[in-house]
Amino acid sequence: MDRVRETRENGTRDKTPWPPGTECVAKYNFQGTTEQDLPFSKGDVLSIIGVTKDPNWYMAKNSVGREGTIPANYVQKREGVKSGGKLSLMPWFHGKITRDQAERLLYPPETGLFLVRESTNYPGDYTLCVSCEGKVEHYRIIYHNGKLSIDEEEFFENLMQLVEVYSRVGLTPVSGLLPCPVYSWQLVHVGGWALKSKDLKLIQTIGKGEFGDVMVGDYRGTKVAVKCIKHDATAQAFIAEASVMTQLRHANLVQLLGVIVEERGSLFIVTEYMAKGSLVDYLRSRGRTVLGVECLLKFSLDVCEAMEYLEANNFVHRDLAARNVLVSEDNIAKVSDFGLTKEASSTQDTAKLPVKWTSPEALREKRFSTKSDVWSYGVLLWEIYSFGRVPYPRIKGYKMDAPDGCPAVVYDLMKQCWTLDPMMRPSFRMLREKLQHIRAKELYL
Ligand code: AMP
Repeated sequence: MDRVRETRENGTRDKTPWPPGTECVAKYNFQGTTEQDLPFSKGDVLSIIGVTKDPNWYMAKNSVGREGTIPANYVQKREGVKSGGKLSLMPWFHGKITRDQAERLLYPPETGLFLVRESTNYPGDYTLCVSCEGKVEHYRIIYHNGKLSIDEEEFFENLMQLVEVYSRVGLTPVSGLLPCPVYSWQLVHVGGWALKSKDLKLIQTIGKGEFGDVMVGDYRGTKVAVKCIKHDATAQAFIAEASVMTQLRHANLVQLLGVIVEERGSLFIVTEYMAKGSLVDYLRSRGRTVLGVECLLKFSLDVCEAMEYLEANNFVHRDLAARNVLVSEDNIAKVSDFGLTKEASSTQDTAKLPVKWTSPEALREKRFSTKSDVWSYGVLLWEIYSFGRVPYPRIKGYKMDAPDGCPAVVYDLMKQCWTLDPMMRPSFRMLREKLQHIRAKELYL
């Protein structure tokens, strides 16, 4: 078969050849007929390397770097990816593409990337495709009585309005075929975390958080804790907390159950209920007479295990302290308040930092890392062994004294956590191993 016949007859290439680096998407499958050809499937993204002598053929490269010649009219330009492209009101709308094509366009997976396509199975309906934790979820957008809806609870006039609402917080402008990274609304709405407000009964206020009341509630017969937030301005911070919580799951982390977003902007974050409240209050109210050394070591280990999990997943907590650890009905300590938790090695505003818990390099140079969490963990150990006393300020490299009655082996761990050079501090894994050793050998007695 000769090359001219191999190419499709409908449509020919633009007059101007595409420059090297142009990205294009395959409109059809192409198997290739010679060694020099680069086979591809419909929906594959290819990058142009250069022209060939034959204007109907390009040299191109696929996503794994394989190079070869491709027929020009089997592919279409991937508008806007490199150049910024045409500004469309709906750059995330891809018309009639298949499920597979949508998944290829959302590759590599990045949580929050999304696009909208016309439904292939239900003509007239649309499909919202969202990349979530490495896989693409497809949600049918039903067109009913002139309105659009995903959950048949909220209805929208058009796709723009729907996308606007589902991505109200954290939406970044989209470009061409490349969908935008969106944390938040979609994640909450379509990542399986949306709860129905009619299933939740708020019972009473149990605490005051930085952003609003914490209430105890009943969600389909289960006692839950609910963080309530009524102002749009602070919703972003709550969403950030919820987004982080959706990615983390560990027996010693307070588990997110879901989120409720109400029409008038109220937002509720529903988590497991921790009957015995914050660790700092628990330690203070029970004190030395009630809490034995085993119990203190168990709390230390519980928190350390959660932190080892965050360490392994490259999450930095940034606000580890006994006030942010909660105690369950069966005395398990769980780390809470992920509001500040960010993926490792990002920086943040130091103005509001809890100074007594924050490592010197984080305070001075905003260098937050798992190692700055290790420093805070040392302070948390001190809080545990002093039954909830307020840590005192450190003066230049000064390490706090051992709390009364604190076993030497545990104080030794605290001091290791307060090593000035972050690199020389132990990892949470090492700390957990040491704590387990202390427990097994009963060195804490
Ligand atoms: P926070 O906004 O997380 O600092 O919470 C403020 C207070 O509300 C805490 O100190 C606890 O007393 C209470 N609280 C928060 N979350 C929960 C929960 N999951 N279960 C029980 N009480 C909680």
